[in-house]
Amino acid sequence: MTPGIKPLVCGNWKMNGHQADKAKLSEINHGYSPDLEAVVDLAICPSFTLIAGFAAGSAKVALGAQDCHVAESGAHTGDVSAAMLVDAGARFVIVGHSERRSDHGEGDALIRQKTEAVVAAGATPIVCVGETQNERESGNAISVVEGQVAASLPDDVPADLVIAYEPVWAIGTGLVPSAQDVAEMHAAMRAALTDRFGTLGDGFRLLYGGSVKPGNATELMAVANVDGALVGGASLKPDDFLGIAKAYLEISGS
Ligand code: PEP
Repeated sequence: MTPGIKPLVCGNWKMNGHQADKAKLSEINHGYSPDLEAVVDLAICPSFTLIAGFAAGSAKVALGAQDCHVAESGAHTGDVSAAMLVDAGARFVIVGHSERRSDHGEGDALIRQKTEAVVAAGATPIVCVGETQNERESGNAISVVEGQVAASLPDDVPADLVIAYEPVWAIGTGLVPSAQDVAEMHAAMRAALTDRFGTLGDGFRLLYGGSVKPGNATELMAVANVDGALVGGASLKPDDFLGIAKAYLEISGS
């Protein structure tokens, strides 16, 4: 938690889900009660194909996308621009997810351009960073992540920027760093952001992602400078996704 920042719990559905899964979104909307709405923002990032249809029926849960092209339009077969995603109803766009970095060879320079494209389109970027297992074991986790944060962000960033720290080795594995390791990483990111962006950097939401479940959410979300979660697998199950969000009822004492 960071005093004064409303946390965000964002689901990343990855390459999962069909039209019929709109029922899951309805379940999440239904369970997103006023007491929960008061303490945490919720978003779901389904595949491109589902955004417009889901946005049409989503009363309270925001919609987002999982990637975008750097250009606004043009001859880029198979790609989707941030402007198109906004047009479809996306308010957030995830950029630099480790699966994009590994499956598509995306690097910090491209992610920086994508971040700029998302901002230009009027959406909020969720910029993902995180170290590999080797980098953690060799003691370089913090310097690697600081480097990714520095190189993936343009100089001109909006106040609502979101950064997600997702250790690659924790994604989809059931492994989770200790609360102390998360605290150290988030403190390092906050210090670097404040150094570079001044008071604006104090207000960015810093999410933790990697095997977040209802059973570990309260401990992880209570860590200083952790302002929410980016959730993969558990976001496909409405009860689990809401269970993670409900950690904030406990943390805030409501
Ligand atoms: C993710 O892919 O962003 C993620 C955090 O996945 P999971 O929650 O399944 O580890």
